Amino acid sequence: MSDSSCLFCKIAAGTIPADLVHADERLVAFHDIGPQAPVHVLVVPREHIASLEEASERHADLLGALLLVAREIAREQGLSERGYRTVINTGADGGQTVQHLHLHLLGGRALEWPPG
Ligand code: 5GP
Ligand code: ZN
Repeated sequence: MSDSSCLFCKIAAGTIPADLVHADERLVAFHDIGPQAPVHVLVVPREHIASLEEASERHADLLGALLLVAREIAREQGLSERGYRTVINTGADGGQTVQHLHLHLLGGRALEWPPG
């Protein structure tokens, strides 16, 4: 299930290039094109799910894997000791600009709170 007009479906399929840091049967991860921190990776399900709002109970394992893969990448990127942030922007007020569910992994500097 992919959407031929969707940027992240195209990246997951390999038809648009990205700097991949992880790929498995369910998820891909790649460096954000506009990094907001020294490490800024996007973790993306291969399945086209438009946002967290569109996820359902059948995606429970996938959503768990999304977090565990983010932690694995954080470890690989050397972020575990100092910490990092995982973010899912949802909808207009959440600041979501790409309509395919993705998790941001940010680290490598002290991040401010609250976000803007
Ligand atoms: P959102 O604002 O939807 O939470 O996050 C979308 C993210 O996708 C942004 O951080 C943006 O920089 C990133 N992005 C948009 N287009 C591309 C692209 O073509 N390649 C990569 N690697 N990242 C992208
Ligand atoms: Zn998609």
